[in-house]
Amino acid sequence: MSTHAPALDGALAEQLREAVHGDFMQPGDPGYDESRKVYNAMHDKRPAAVVQAVDAGDVIATVNFAREQDLLTAVRGGSHSVSGYGTCDDGVVLDLARMRGIRVDPDARTARAEGGCTWADFNHATHAFGLATTGGVVSSTGIGGLTTGGGMGHLARRCGLACDNLVSADLVTADGSFLTCTEDKNADLFWALRGGGGNFGVVTSFEYRLHPVADILGGPTFYPLDGDALRRYRDLIAESDDRLGALLVVGLGPPLPFLPERWHGRPLCGVLICWSGPEEQDDEIRARLTGLGPIIGQHVGRMPYPVINTLFDELLPAGLFHYWKGTFSEGLPDGAIDAYVEYGATTPSIQSATVVFPIDGACHRVAPEATAFAYRDADFATALSPTLTTRAECEANMDWVRRFAAALRPHSMEGAYVNFMDHDDQDRVRTNYRQNYDRLTTIKRRYDPANLFRLNHNIAP
Ligand code: FAD
Repeated sequence: MSTHAPALDGALAEQLREAVHGDFMQPGDPGYDESRKVYNAMHDKRPAAVVQAVDAGDVIATVNFAREQDLLTAVRGGSHSVSGYGTCDDGVVLDLARMRGIRVDPDARTARAEGGCTWADFNHATHAFGLATTGGVVSSTGIGGLTTGGGMGHLARRCGLACDNLVSADLVTADGSFLTCTEDKNADLFWALRGGGGNFGVVTSFEYRLHPVADILGGPTFYPLDGDALRRYRDLIAESDDRLGALLVVGLGPPLPFLPERWHGRPLCGVLICWSGPEEQDDEIRARLTGLGPIIGQHVGRMPYPVINTLFDELLPAGLFHYWKGTFSEGLPDGAIDAYVEYGATTPSIQSATVVFPIDGACHRVAPEATAFAYRDADFATALSPTLTTRAECEANMDWVRRFAAALRPHSMEGAYVNFMDHDDQDRVRTNYRQNYDRLTTIKRRYDPANLFRLNHNIAP
């Protein structure tokens, strides 16, 4: 396997252009500059070609071509990879964003969604039937990267990770085969796809189990940033019914109308709830929020489930500059709380929130070896990021996040969630998979021995 991609000259490029039904773009073509953009503006790459696939046929043709020509290959779903794995220099980008079909089976309570769907697409389609499953908390995130990495969201305590709700996946492997993967069929791949990321091929469609979730009690409540509020949040999670999702957010006050102006841009913490239990218990949940600390702003009410996954959207449009670190922890140790308070106070921008996802409840009821996602004993997964409007500002704050992550390390587990790691965390891949790493390597060796799918948190064959 060469490490440097060969040039894609005219005649070769024509072969691929003719082999696909979707759009094919090269440098100089109209639309090329738009097509090469990914969500995280830190990754400004110039692929030799971008294929905007429209069906599994396009995916198979592109995978075969990339393998035969030994081209560096980036697979892109929602393009939210903070590591920028949805693009590359000189190689081929296989963009699934035009593959967005969804079919809900309300009787079976399942939905089949094509590999380029976002969570906005998915939630919209399933909400029409009063059904939902765990997905990302920002609606523009892709189902592809999120599900294959594990997938945390507001329903995780109740319904498990997104990958725990996977019933089957149609996969194009490195040799161009099209394989349906379930618990019974291609079971090794089905196991690996649930947490192992994009290492094993391109998922052209995912089939998910759905749960009856229609309207929920949701929204943020903000408190002054202090250790007591965070300790009470910890108790809230430990004591609450799994139907309560509650993200902890530590950062600077956003300029929201329900937050007094004097708090805009000042350090605070917020609890973003999603209560999917009975409406009769709403008052109990509200009372728990009141007990966490002096409320400085609150916007909690009944809303359709998809809405709770759009509350960060405006704050986090595509085109900002991100650099992320992630941690897992058992409980929220006091030392971690001290770090959240200390580093939260110097958060570099309003967009740079530290987000703590509770992943106990249903996530713990899956055995650590049952899927590739190994950290079934972690209670919380945290994403830390300086997110800024220029590259220079983001780079200037990388040290802040590295120091923050270092301060959390003594209070964290060894590995972290692959989807919250950046491109310079490749040396942590083994610990992120713990006891499952060797089995992942064996499966990788069998299905992708030349490591065609290596733009990811790579499980080297
Ligand atoms: P892409 O950049 O398109 O892909 C990411 C990786 O997945 C690549 O390696 C790609 O090859 C692979 N991939 C994508 N689609 C497929 C497919 N169909 N088949 C095979 N491989 C595929 N994570 C959570 O768990 N919960 C959250 O709530 C959450 N919120 C986020 C919010 C923001 C603003 C951002 C930037 C990230 C968030 N994440 C969250 C992390 C997110 O899970 C990862 O960034 C994930 O990789 C995004 O998936 P994508 O399809 O959008 O990304």
